[in-house]
Amino acid sequence: MENSEQTNVLKGVLASGGIAIGKAFLFEEEDFCIVPRKIQKAAVKKEIERFKDAISHVKTDLSNTKEQILKTLGKKHEPLVDAYLLMLEDPILNRDVIRKIQDDNVNAEYSLWSTLEKVTQSFEKIDDEYFRERKNDVQEIGRRIMRNLTGQHRKHISEAPPDSIIIAHSLAPADTMMLKEHKISGFAINVGGRTSHVAIVAQGLEIPAVVGLKNITAVVNYGDTIIIDGNQGLVIVNPDQQTLENYQRECEIQIRERKELEKLRDLPAETTDGHRVSLACNIETLDELKSVLNSGAEGIGLFRTEFLYLTRKSPPTEEEHYEIYTAVAQKMLPYSVIIRTMDIGGDKLAELGFEGFTSEDNPFLGMRAIRLSLKYPELFKAQIRAILRASKNGNLKILFPMISGVDELRQAKRLMQESKQELMSKNIAFDEKIEIGVMIEIPSAALTADLIAKECDFLSIGTNDLIQYTLAVDRMNESVAHMYEPLHLSILRLLKHIIDAGHNAGKWVGMCGEMASDPTFTTILLGMELNEFSMPPLSVPRIKKIIRSTSLIEAKDLAREVLSTNDRAILLGTIKKGVIV
Ligand code: PEP
Ligand code: MG
Repeated sequence: MENSEQTNVLKGVLASGGIAIGKAFLFEEEDFCIVPRKIQKAAVKKEIERFKDAISHVKTDLSNTKEQILKTLGKKHEPLVDAYLLMLEDPILNRDVIRKIQDDNVNAEYSLWSTLEKVTQSFEKIDDEYFRERKNDVQEIGRRIMRNLTGQHRKHISEAPPDSIIIAHSLAPADTMMLKEHKISGFAINVGGRTSHVAIVAQGLEIPAVVGLKNITAVVNYGDTIIIDGNQGLVIVNPDQQTLENYQRECEIQIRERKELEKLRDLPAETTDGHRVSLACNIETLDELKSVLNSGAEGIGLFRTEFLYLTRKSPPTEEEHYEIYTAVAQKMLPYSVIIRTMDIGGDKLAELGFEGFTSEDNPFLGMRAIRLSLKYPELFKAQIRAILRASKNGNLKILFPMISGVDELRQAKRLMQESKQELMSKNIAFDEKIEIGVMIEIPSAALTADLIAKECDFLSIGTNDLIQYTLAVDRMNESVAHMYEPLHLSILRLLKHIIDAGHNAGKWVGMCGEMASDPTFTTILLGMELNEFSMPPLSVPRIKKIIRSTSLIEAKDLAREVLSTNDRAILLGTIKKGVIV
């Protein structure tokens, strides 16, 4: 077959394995194309009315969500929520935009756009950081009014035809969550690293993906034929017939391999000398439970609950939380489910519209996870009460993300104690012995893991963040992706220290970062005596195969060897020797 388009092979960062073939759908970011349009003098009044109507629509939308927000956050946060509403009354928005429509005879969209430009520039000149940051809020309000004026809505994944391949600059984790529902085959984006949350969600949904491609949006056109090779981090644009057929064959081989591995499903994750570990799964949504149950995993080692907050404008109520946790607890019986309290922030921004939930200059070092929970105790306690209530329906454990040290753990436990008392005062039953775990993902927590372990029931190592913070390598930034190195001696030493600290305090230690699902590291982690490996369902059979093919004695030797060398070539050679894939 003749191929008139040019084949182009792009190399990116592999995010989610597997192969997908389909037609390109370009998912562009919201981009208002605002041009000045002269209006007749007689039409000025109508144009002003149109602007006022848009403001009043945005007000109604915000007021409707406000009530729900306050119910969860508590009344004391009313001023915060009111700030957005107040901005709509702001004279700059009202007076200046209207004046420009009248004086210059221009359309409302252009008048709003140019007024916002002026305001944004003024904000940038302010010395005070707090006020400078408010420009984001003004821009957000501006976007909402503009959407109303133009009738333009944020593009939705549902607009892509089934079996498409999404091509975009970036995808929010919330958009990624909808890909499966809309039968999208795969995606490729300009930005992102291997452990960015879009990549993690894609793995959970088992959608092949390549990230960090830098400029794929400039190379691909709507309707181009695309192959996503998620195993090698390649994207092939308009492949020739031979390449297409090769990939179709590879798809079939993969399906056969998976079937082969399925035979291990009901066998234990046990070494040849009888050392048993636990293999569990990471999930973001209930849709993944079927894959978890099919994978042969013995429980859920990480339920990332922040995804419950991302696709909505007000936080979930205690009842909504309760229903979801009850469903997971019941479906997973007799296995346990570790529910992590919300880890909003970083690359998982919720649109809840209150301070700390909006964008920051340095979000991974900002208001994230437990920091937000401690700032908004009512929001946190609603989630804790729901987990506690659901704990009587199954085997639940609770996990706190981004704990930096013992003090923060104590604060979180104090709020948990208050939540228990609130339930007891209403005679509501819960598992009084529910286990509390701490994510070890900040170097300060890793170095004080001995103290933390004494005050909780288990540790769970979050290597995605631990590596990012220890090596100062942004997990989202494709330019430094090659420096994101799990085998750096500092990381190996920290892992050993954390695992030993947990064991010395008599506690078990798991790992829920991506390192736990990478076959390269399985034997080393086994040798360090990690107790639980938690990963996307698709990875479970392969990791089980490695564990069942090695002995603990061999694994310990390998761990000792890699910890005692600082020479990269020797290190890689040693690992190659020890890896059984
Ligand atoms: C981690 O940091 O390793 C982790 C599991 O948490 P998340 O990826 O959600 O930040
Ligand atoms: Mg983390």
